[in-house]
Amino acid sequence: MSIDGGQVDDQLRLMAVHAHPDDESSKGAAAMAKYVADGVDVLVVTCTGGERGSVLNKNLDRPEIWANIAEIRRAEMDRAREILGVRQSWLGYVDSGLPEGDPLPPLPEGCFALAGFDEAVGALVAQIREFQPHVMTTYDENGGYPHPDHIMCHKISVAAFDAAGDPDRYAELGVPWQPLKLYYNMGFNKERMIALHEGMLAAGIESPYGEWLEKWDEREDHGDRITTRVPAGDYFEARDDALRAHATQVDPDGWWFKVPLVIQQQVWPTEDFELARSLVDSPLPEDDLFAGVRERVRA
Ligand SMILES: [Zn+2]
Repeated sequence: MSIDGGQVDDQLRLMAVHAHPDDESSKGAAAMAKYVADGVDVLVVTCTGGERGSVLNKNLDRPEIWANIAEIRRAEMDRAREILGVRQSWLGYVDSGLPEGDPLPPLPEGCFALAGFDEAVGALVAQIREFQPHVMTTYDENGGYPHPDHIMCHKISVAAFDAAGDPDRYAELGVPWQPLKLYYNMGFNKERMIALHEGMLAAGIESPYGEWLEKWDEREDHGDRITTRVPAGDYFEARDDALRAHATQVDPDGWWFKVPLVIQQQVWPTEDFELARSLVDSPLPEDDLFAGVRERVRA
């Protein structure tokens, strides 16, 4: 394929669409850092500014932090972006917050989850046409977890994947570009948690997962939907550093950081995805988001 007046363009590009700043560092971050190291151009698109995220770091739960939360979260995102080596852009929407209580309160006016659907799809279509990704990632239809922004992120990503290559849709928003594969992040699955739990116990370390696993039957597991396991153990440290850069959003003493990296690298050295749409041939299971794409781009 060619852009820029006929010059051959064999640069691989990956676009990861996420709901909030910090999601990119906990879902597929090591795989992104790996692809950056392999020379892939990676763009994270962050749908919202994360203005309604909880401050989970006790040391930072202070009035002056809350007064500047939007600005602080941008600075945190900049730092995480540098650590992962990716590019990043904002879709420009406002965080919906996670409604809690019974009955659930209404979503705040003007938030992402209440945004006009066609307009939000168009905003992402414009970014797809500008960046021209070969592969996109997003969340599954459950959002990975049921935050209204994650569900909205899923919906607009799928719709934009289908619309971006169609010259009759959003004709005013750039030259059509059809990404070749769409994946859902599948990192949170029971089999992985059992492997980490047992790895901890075998090493004689207390596991943070025991209670979760006991309660797991109450929640659905989508581990059987995994089609693609990307070896990314060498980048788990970068992933954790990027997540820590979102300092207001993570508890530095929390469960996320309890499993020693060497155990993670031994028992579960991959980041996992479900192939949701594909326009290329790639036998499943795969270990590469660009399987079937590399051949096409270099042809
Ligand atoms: Zn989120």
